[in-house]
Amino acid sequence: MNILVINCGSSSLKFQLIDSESEQVSAKGLCERIGITGSRLVYQKAGGEKQITESPMPDHKKAIQMVIDALTDQESGVVSSLSLIGCVGHRIVHGGERFASSVVLDDQVIAAIETCSTLAPLHNPANLTGIRACRELMPDTPMVAVFDTAFHQTMPEEAWLYGIPYEYYEKYGIRRYGFHGTSHSYVSKRAAEVMGKKSSELKLIVCHLGNGASVSAVKYGQSVDTSMGLTPLEGLIMGTRSGDLDAAIIELIAHREGRTLEEVMEILNKESGVLGLSGGLSSDFRDLEDAYCENVPQGVRAVRAFVYRVAKYIGAYTAAMNGVDGICFTAGLGENSALIRSLICDYLGYLGVQLDQEQNKKRGQDTIISTPDSKTAVLVIPTNEELAIAREAAALLQK
Ligand code: AMP
Repeated sequence: MNILVINCGSSSLKFQLIDSESEQVSAKGLCERIGITGSRLVYQKAGGEKQITESPMPDHKKAIQMVIDALTDQESGVVSSLSLIGCVGHRIVHGGERFASSVVLDDQVIAAIETCSTLAPLHNPANLTGIRACRELMPDTPMVAVFDTAFHQTMPEEAWLYGIPYEYYEKYGIRRYGFHGTSHSYVSKRAAEVMGKKSSELKLIVCHLGNGASVSAVKYGQSVDTSMGLTPLEGLIMGTRSGDLDAAIIELIAHREGRTLEEVMEILNKESGVLGLSGGLSSDFRDLEDAYCENVPQGVRAVRAFVYRVAKYIGAYTAAMNGVDGICFTAGLGENSALIRSLICDYLGYLGVQLDQEQNKKRGQDTIISTPDSKTAVLVIPTNEELAIAREAAALLQK
């Protein structure tokens, strides 16, 4: 079955058409600048060149129409008609406590996703826009919602509670939810396969290190803790997000800098992380690695602080699971940066981690990068959230 995987943001829309049997991507691309000037569709058929079509996209409906037209085009398309797309899988950022797994979309589910919008006001409304546009254009095609938060719904209460009055959880749902769940789930399952074991017998720590970054503790196949919280701001130091901090800092910056609460939140989300720590040098780890290697102080401090925070979470999650069998690196930085992996592993001598420096140089493939006698395995597992969504969708429809 052809499954169209859609990841819809407020002004962008990424898509992949995946054959659920062969798990091959037949076409992929993205619509950029939806609703603003300069909209364009970037479309690429498997094995083909990227095609760029610049055309106004006043809304998501128009964007999805353009995607459908490209996929069914006689020359550059990959399916002869819309009816050959068996299902649409939508990535949804926040499923709150309502969704602990993926679901087939219907009016009730859409209403529940809407309710979760208070928890993710920037993301869920954009996701819903994509759902509504697809439903209008493909009314007979089943649709599935796959939630970023769902995998972490197995966390025990002590891991998801904040130390604030309990009534705020009861009244407003203020608790830790965690994100990147599709990636943590996919990578932990794949890591077990690569290790030749069942995930039900392993304690794994997954480090999803990209522009957004999070760590999770996956015990016997279930998430028992993760570093992001109510929103994706908590946890690791990220590209532009602060990660964990003393909440009193918010008040102090607001007073001293004469900023509103909204402005301070903007600073913590967009001007902090390694970008802020490096004095504005870059949020991109390729630049920061260069700076680190050239001993540029701003780069060195940003990289050191980032690496230290990851190592600290690995220690915490080893404690949470009373041990760890494997540590997995994934996402842009985790998959590609031998330096960052090596600097993190320098902290893990107490776990008997020994890196195989040659294996650590490999990129873009499932690899065990620890030596055979390393007490804890260390792996690189490229994440594939689109494939994970397609698998979820196929499994749900087969039920
Ligand atoms: P993601 O959000 O998963 O796309 O990851 C983006 C992050 O991965 C950015 O900070 C990139 O600089 C980083 N990244 C991608 N490729 C490399 C690379 N070859 N070496 C170091 N960092 C990389």
